[in-house]
Amino acid sequence: MKKYYLITPGPTPVPPTVAAQSALPVLHHRTHEFGKLFEQVMEGLRTVFQTKRDVMLITGSGTGAMESAVANLLSPGDKAIVASCGAFGNRWEKICVAFGAKVVMLKEEWGQAVDPGKVRQALKENPDAKAVFFTHTETSAGTVNDVKAIAAVVAETAAVSVVDAISGLAGQELRMDDWKLDVVVSGSQKGLMTAPGLAFAAVSEKGWKLVESSKNARFYNDYRLIKKSIPNKETPWTPAVSLVASLHEAIRALMEEGMENVWKRHLRLAKACRAGMQALNLKLLSAAPCSVLTSAHLPESVSGEKLVDWLRDEHGVSIAGGQEHLKGKIVRLAHMGYMDHFDLTIGLTALEWGLVKFGHKVDAGKAVKTAQETFLAG
Ligand SMILES: *Cc1c(COP(=O)(O)O)cnc(C)c1O
Repeated sequence: MKKYYLITPGPTPVPPTVAAQSALPVLHHRTHEFGKLFEQVMEGLRTVFQTKRDVMLITGSGTGAMESAVANLLSPGDKAIVASCGAFGNRWEKICVAFGAKVVMLKEEWGQAVDPGKVRQALKENPDAKAVFFTHTETSAGTVNDVKAIAAVVAETAAVSVVDAISGLAGQELRMDDWKLDVVVSGSQKGLMTAPGLAFAAVSEKGWKLVESSKNARFYNDYRLIKKSIPNKETPWTPAVSLVASLHEAIRALMEEGMENVWKRHLRLAKACRAGMQALNLKLLSAAPCSVLTSAHLPESVSGEKLVDWLRDEHGVSIAGGQEHLKGKIVRLAHMGYMDHFDLTIGLTALEWGLVKFGHKVDAGKAVKTAQETFLAG
């Protein structure tokens, strides 16, 4: 027998009550029954996004919502600023280029956060930029950006701010309206504790002006069509009905806990995880570590790829390694979504086992002990 432990930054574990909803008979999507579910999901998402705006439901993964933002906001030839500090920030550049935008790229080293001062400078040098794209929690490095500060800089200009909150939403504080964010996109399979397949986008009034004037081709994810169908409690096309039923239950659980408490729980787990990894003499990768995952450098003698494969294949524990130039060099432990302090214990114990297996001596139990002490201290 092998148990399966999902400790990756997406997909994340789905609570049994959430999974169970998807097993119920599929509702027809143009019925009162589904409409009621849809309406409650919309209401809950507003609280999750901390916005009074409509949150649009998209069928697809998070990247689909990212693409929809570029397609709906820009026109071919438009200038866009992308402020990146990792693989997901870089994805904004690829999407913008695919849609014919001219990209001004601001790049930080993986592990450093975006500097709002550099965004200000870039906007000054490019007053014709239509939008600034960036990331809330950069999952490839475990970094949180100062979204509030970046959005404030953009809000002083004619450009709109567009944030990928796919891994950060419902894990790390984010307040769309208070922070003057124009577009927030996310997905179902991270902090929202639902299986992959749903994505979201919310747009401010300033953002809608761009949507109305965009000349990009779009159809399936045309924000104008999605928005128009919301008052009818439906989506333009058949939505992933069963996932919406699951999301309804996940949102109920989040509302019961309260967003402030959800953010606090993740921060507490993050602090404990950082302490646990540091107790193993692993150096944290990020100078601005986020609340939803923790990344650390591995000792040079240890192959991260082998470690991750071995833990998954031999012990059923899925953790994440590094991407691109950090492949094999780092590990990333998620504490995102349906996770508590005991889940952290599993991740850290597995990491210790992996290190020992690949020849790096560790004081067995030290990471867990330190993490638990840190957790209990608050
Ligand atoms: C997971 C993730 C994505 C990609 O989402 P998909 O659902 O795989 O398309 C984008 N951005 C961030 C920050 C992520 O963590």
